[in-house]
Amino acid sequence: MNATTHAVFGVAAFAGASLFVGVEPPVWTYPAAVVAAWLPDADNPRSRLGNGLSKMKNPLLNAITRPISWLLQTASFILVRAVGHRTLTHSLLGLFLFALPIYFFLGAFPALQIALMSGAASHIVADALNTRGVPLLWPLGPTFRIIPGGFKSGGVIELAVAICVMAAAGYAIYLLHPLVRTTIGLVQPI
Ligand SMILES: [Zn+2]
Repeated sequence: MNATTHAVFGVAAFAGASLFVGVEPPVWTYPAAVVAAWLPDADNPRSRLGNGLSKMKNPLLNAITRPISWLLQTASFILVRAVGHRTLTHSLLGLFLFALPIYFFLGAFPALQIALMSGAASHIVADALNTRGVPLLWPLGPTFRIIPGGFKSGGVIELAVAICVMAAAGYAIYLLHPLVRTTIGLVQPI
């Protein structure tokens, strides 16, 4: 799955989870869900996060993003050397290890907790639609796929799925935020 598809899945999962628990999330938590949705592929040095963040024009922003970028590149290198791509970060064990610090340190930000967890979980669901599947029980056993055989990454089916999920995300956001509903209500013909 490409980075855009993962971002769409992350937002959809987050909006769905927020709707489920009945909390209207602050707008700033949506980018957190997107970053979390990219995080499992940080074990791939060629992924959106694994190859580090791109250089910013603003020197101040650069000063902040460069160390994060180096950290991501180092983590990516270590992960891919130690366990390989699509192993720990695409498993329930990985998700559990990711959940621990979120549970212990971000208790004051429940919306952020939901954003990070649903984003990361959505990545595994999205990859489970793929031909390669995901090693859900890593380091044990088999590879899981949601549909038999799965579909190819980057193809027309991925695009169609992404569009459907984006529509679902849009509807969930519409239900979640009264402000969005009012704005759309304003532009509707009377
Ligand atoms: Zn992945």
